[in-house]
Amino acid sequence: MTTLSKIAKNIIIFGAPGGGKGTICNKLVKDFQFTHISTGNLLRNQVAKNTALGTQVKSFLAEGLLVPDQIVVDIIKSEINQKDSHLFDGFPRTIEQASILIQALKIDAVISLEIPFEVIIERLSNRWIHIPSGRTYAYDYNPPIKHGLDDITGEALIQREDDNPISIKRRLEEYEKVTSPVLNFFSQQQNIKFSNFKGSESNVIYKNLKPFLVEHVLNI
Ligand code: AMP
Repeated sequence: MTTLSKIAKNIIIFGAPGGGKGTICNKLVKDFQFTHISTGNLLRNQVAKNTALGTQVKSFLAEGLLVPDQIVVDIIKSEINQKDSHLFDGFPRTIEQASILIQALKIDAVISLEIPFEVIIERLSNRWIHIPSGRTYAYDYNPPIKHGLDDITGEALIQREDDNPISIKRRLEEYEKVTSPVLNFFSQQQNIKFSNFKGSESNVIYKNLKPFLVEHVLNI
């Protein structure tokens, strides 16, 4: 693992649901010392533990609708630490969330992943997840070692409640309508590096993304 400089770096991995943000973040966490913050994973864990917050957000997640900004912003504020380097995955998803984030933390880069929607729909329908960690598997290209079980903990894998055709459609609509304009917001911010990576395979995207970050953002 490469040590990052003492100055914290904060990077947003941006893209449609099912576009490989989590996979790219996992690769970056293996290679560098980032704190990975996935609002989707944090919210799903609250639902799985049946907390008061989980009960409040459960139906939004199941239906593929965005959770109200204030709830998500409160979660983020409790997770961030000015000294750490963060990778944001699935946050921000609205202009409101983005404006609050740039006031709370210096954002160094926004990396946008552009994956064709047909690939996303296919991927989400075949995705299996280990809820506590957020690790994902697919039986065709990334199968678990033992059928139905997480490689690290041996716990059961499940299909996400929102990885069904109706919720997938709604999530992609939410992305187009509410979340994709956030990219325009960031492209207008000075001092935030902005880059776009296209493709359908996370391994291939990562081969280009990693050197870009090393050279232009992490400066290591
Ligand atoms: P994800 O795992 O990032 O696809 O998120 C799963 C679901 O969690 C989304 O469909 C939303 O219901 C909710 N969610 C995650 N992140 C956010 C966010 N930043 N703002 C609002 N809702 C969110």
